Amino acid sequence: MINLLNNQMIEDTIQNIQNVYMMDSLPWVVGYSGGKDSTVLVQLIFNAILKMPEQKRHKKVYIISSDTLVETPLIIASINKTLMRIQEKALELDLPIETHKVRPEIEKSFWSSIIGKGYPSPRQKFRWCTDRMKIDPANKFIKDKVDHFGEVIMVLGVRDSESATRAQVMENHTIEGKVLMRHSTLSNAYVYAPIRHFDLEDVWNYLLNEESPWGNDNYELHALYQNSTGGECPLIVDKDIKESAGSCGNSRFGCWTCTVVTEDKALNGFIESGEEWLRPLAEYRKWLSEIRDNREMREKRRMNGSIYFVGQGDERELGLGPFTLEARKEILRKLLETQRRVVNPYDSDYELITIEELKHIRKLWLDEEDWHDSVPMIYREVMGRDLDWEYNERALFEEDQITDLEFLCDEHQVSMQLIKKLVNVEKNYSGYRVRRGLFQEFDKILKQDWLHYGKVEGYKE
Ligand code: SF4
Repeated sequence: MINLLNNQMIEDTIQNIQNVYMMDSLPWVVGYSGGKDSTVLVQLIFNAILKMPEQKRHKKVYIISSDTLVETPLIIASINKTLMRIQEKALELDLPIETHKVRPEIEKSFWSSIIGKGYPSPRQKFRWCTDRMKIDPANKFIKDKVDHFGEVIMVLGVRDSESATRAQVMENHTIEGKVLMRHSTLSNAYVYAPIRHFDLEDVWNYLLNEESPWGNDNYELHALYQNSTGGECPLIVDKDIKESAGSCGNSRFGCWTCTVVTEDKALNGFIESGEEWLRPLAEYRKWLSEIRDNREMREKRRMNGSIYFVGQGDERELGLGPFTLEARKEILRKLLETQRRVVNPYDSDYELITIEELKHIRKLWLDEEDWHDSVPMIYREVMGRDLDWEYNERALFEEDQITDLEFLCDEHQVSMQLIKKLVNVEKNYSGYRVRRGLFQEFDKILKQDWLHYGKVEGYKE
């Protein structure tokens, strides 16, 4: 039920936005996630600037959206369309507004982390994804602007009424008598939250009573929230405020791969409303979540080779490390198989993993212990074609040599993984006349905990 718009509150907010805009010459960076709160925010800012005399529109407003590369396909398509419309309208009206998308570096993407390095899929207690995929890229954009302008103001669509913890965090950051808050980690950045006093009803009242200046239909946005109890996954660019926000991904606005939430609201809502083609994605996400704690698929040591124990007494066992290489091969194979099953009716070029990510994963595996060079092999087997693999280093050993080595390792009870690690070090030093450091590296590998865990008291694999 939509009530009448509280005109006075909207006018006051627009006035406040104009006052803060005119206060200084610091550029604004506005986070836009495609959700209701950031849509209200951007719409208010757009209208506030539009209503100002031309000579006072003196500073830039950057509207940034995050593309984690694993966004729910329909949401990222809608964000792309909206950013384009905002940009076109701003150019037409001569407003100093620029839209940008920020992406994680390929090395830090979801698939590079999980398939490339073996990170376990994220959980609430080990939520490595938000920093790597959202906050770091947004912060990089902000730092670039700080380098250029000296200081910036980040404008966020966060609201006090979303959670008491968040309201408290925002209160703690507020400088008395000022509308700007200090950023918790970025120096020379301030935070401005013009809709922090809005409640949910205010948000919808504004969106459904006030036409979108760039021609979007806010009723479509409203429909996205029907049957969806979760919040949104805002592009939050302040760590403290992020921590107070609880689970991200608990809505239609998260990543389609999100394993932080138990029920997949991002995809299921769309499937229920008829987007059947997304079902293979939902099935894959479910599988990814299920295999997370499968001991067979995880190393029993950390990435640095150290080991740790969990549990007590008879229950005491080795803690889990990253996904094994074999597990990662399976994750990649199933992902590509899923890609083959997905036919996106809106975008025939839609892909679940980018070519850059595949190439990066290949490099990581080759640097690790994948002597079989499995990425091109898996890709060819599943997709029935080859990519232009640039990193064409000749395989270290022929297949039969690898088999012989495996046989020897078996016979002498030596870990093949250990041999591969040592050979990789040797390979990295080949060609150097002075090979200083080689033996220290051998030593480091040979001293890693996992090689000696049989000797650790109470060890149980
Ligand atoms: S939606 Fe889920 S996977 Fe994506 S960044 Fe948020 S918590 Fe991580």
